[in-house]
Amino acid sequence: MSLEKHPHPSHLHAETLVVAVGRPERTHDAPVNPPIVLSSTYVGTGTVVDGDRAYGRYSNPTWDPLEEAVSALEGATLPGLLFGSGLAAVSAALSLIPAGGVLVMPKHSYQGALVMAQELSAKGLFALRTVNIADNNEVIDALTGEGERAASMLWLESPTNPMLEVADLRVLSQAAKAVGALVVTDNTFSTPLVQKPLELGSDIVLHSVTKYLAGHSDVVLGILVTSDAKLRGELLHHRSIHGAIAGPFEAWLALRGLRTLALRVERSQATAAELANRLQVHDGVDAVRFPGLDSDPGHQRAKDQMHGFGSVLAIEVAGGPEAADAVIAALELWTPATSLGGVESLIERRRRHANEPETVPGNLLRLSVGIENVEDLWADLDQALQRGTNR
Ligand SMILES: *Cc1c(COP(=O)(O)O)cnc(C)c1O
Repeated sequence: MSLEKHPHPSHLHAETLVVAVGRPERTHDAPVNPPIVLSSTYVGTGTVVDGDRAYGRYSNPTWDPLEEAVSALEGATLPGLLFGSGLAAVSAALSLIPAGGVLVMPKHSYQGALVMAQELSAKGLFALRTVNIADNNEVIDALTGEGERAASMLWLESPTNPMLEVADLRVLSQAAKAVGALVVTDNTFSTPLVQKPLELGSDIVLHSVTKYLAGHSDVVLGILVTSDAKLRGELLHHRSIHGAIAGPFEAWLALRGLRTLALRVERSQATAAELANRLQVHDGVDAVRFPGLDSDPGHQRAKDQMHGFGSVLAIEVAGGPEAADAVIAALELWTPATSLGGVESLIERRRRHANEPETVPGNLLRLSVGIENVEDLWADLDQALQRGTNR
């Protein structure tokens, strides 16, 4: 299934693309959905190798429709590259940094990505400069190096996890280009329906497919998307040689989940905005972090580069970490669990993770808003906040 055979005309809206892209060819009696192909090797021509699927670590027909669909959604000209997890995709992307190069990364990046970068830099593979990604001047200084070596790669994540800071994707991507740095954007929180980093200047977009794209908390997968053939070739080589590939069944489930992405994002975003408004005036809450709030420091920037504000928010619970834990213990509908982007609403106190940066407040709860009824979600949060904080 090549992109040529299945064009995704740019006049189609994202809500249509998630449903229409990655279908088998319309021949008589063809299935509507692509089949799951379980094969570790493929019959070859015996002579040419190029163009063959060859072997199960290089390609699988079940990956193709998903790679095509996410590429279409991100507005890329080449198919995406599916990986066995979001972090496998992070690993492949970081491999593009030349030996002795410099990586500039938000200090509140996704924890696993940050830990990986810290460990690789501790081994001396590259230098790591962590920055407040919402502060353009700080990031630009780190990119130019101010007399030291300029950056080789800018890592962008916006909004950040779990602080919900908003990076100026356009300006920072331009500044990175000016010093010859590659730009990788982790777009997991926003999904391509809400934010399209390639249009804002990124070279590569990364998703933990585990989250919104698959959407049902039942698979772990990652994907990289780029329109640059040379970069794509290097990333494909990394996947083939390092072997962090996706299982066909997971890929199939993720495509099935993707079909409802637009509906899920529309509902969860609307609910997140409503909950943020109500939480802002709750006595049990000291602060709400959500770019959709007028009062949020990232609000204007988010409005300029996103279509909506996503469905993850963070609250700081009155009474400190113990009160925050008590709130979680009092919840009945919200599930206490890490991760995000599924149909079910999840909540967790981030600092319970040993590696969480100390700049993340101890009383901060991250909420991933699902697709349940807003009043049911609110009633549960309200009673748990009252019980947990005695307010
Ligand atoms: C979960 C997540 C990842 C890592 O993805 P896995 O699929 O868990 O390996 C990377 N970035 C962000 C923003 C995430 O939420």
